[in-house]
Amino acid sequence: MASTRPVNRPSVRHPSHTHPLRVCKARGEDEMICSGCELELTGQAFKCAKSDCDYFLHKSCFDLPRELSHKSHPDHSLTLHHSSPYGQPYTCDACGEYGSGFTYHCSACQYDVHVGCAFIPENVKREDHEHPLTLLYNTPCKGREDGAMFICDVCEEDMTENLWVYYCKECDYGTHVHSCPVHENHQPKKREREASLEALRMQSLMAAQDELAAMRIRDNIKNSVIHFGDEPRYKWVYE
Ligand SMILES: [Zn+2]
Ligand SMILES: [Zn+2]
Ligand SMILES: [Zn+2]
Ligand SMILES: [Zn+2]
Ligand SMILES: [Zn+2]
Ligand SMILES: [Zn+2]
Repeated sequence: MASTRPVNRPSVRHPSHTHPLRVCKARGEDEMICSGCELELTGQAFKCAKSDCDYFLHKSCFDLPRELSHKSHPDHSLTLHHSSPYGQPYTCDACGEYGSGFTYHCSACQYDVHVGCAFIPENVKREDHEHPLTLLYNTPCKGREDGAMFICDVCEEDMTENLWVYYCKECDYGTHVHSCPVHENHQPKKREREASLEALRMQSLMAAQDELAAMRIRDNIKNSVIHFGDEPRYKWVYE
C-alpha cells in the first residue's frame, strides 16, 4: 500500500550549500526568499534540512545550467557562481542592483547577471504602456556623443548606458528591467504593476527551466553550453 506520508523524506545535496536540502512547497504568504536568485520563493522548492538554517532554493534555481551563452554577452560564455566572486555583493550588469546570491559571471570582463535577470523575456507588456516593450542589452543612449543619459520612464532615474532596458521605440519609452521604485506623485496603482513584473520575471525563469529540462532530455547532453532563444522578434541596432 502506498503511503502518502513517507517517514524518511529523502534529502539531496546541492553544491551551493553545505547542508542537505529537502523538497518543500512554498506558499506565497510565507515570504521566503530564494538564496539563489534572491526573489520570492514560490512553487516547487528546496529547503535546508537543518531547522535553524534559512537556506532555500527554487527548483528552477536548483537546476540552473553551469554555463550559459547569453545574447547580452556574445563574446564569452557565463559561468554560474553560487556566491559573489568578489567577496562582497556584485552589481548586476542587467538591472544595476546588488546581488549576493547566485550570479552568471564572466571573469574576463567582470560581467555579472542575476540568475533571475538572465532569463527575463525579450518582450513584455506593461499595463501602463499601450505597446509591447522589447528588451535591449544597453540603453538607447549608448554611444551618444553629447553624453545624454537615458532616463527611466517609471522611476525617473538616470541609467548608465550598459544597463538593460525594456523599450518602446515608437514612443521612446523605456524602463529598468527591475521593479523600479515609483515616485510618490505617480498613481499608487503602479506599485501593483511593478509587483506583477517581478512575478513575470520569476515565471519566465521557471518556464526557461522547463524548456531547458526538455532540451537536456532531448539532446542527452550534460553541462553543454546552451543558447537561449532565437533572433529577437524586433531588432533595434544602437551602435
Ligand atoms: Zn531562485
Ligand atoms: Zn543549511
Ligand atoms: Zn539583475
Ligand atoms: Zn566577458
Ligand atoms: Zn527605473
Ligand atoms: Zn509605445
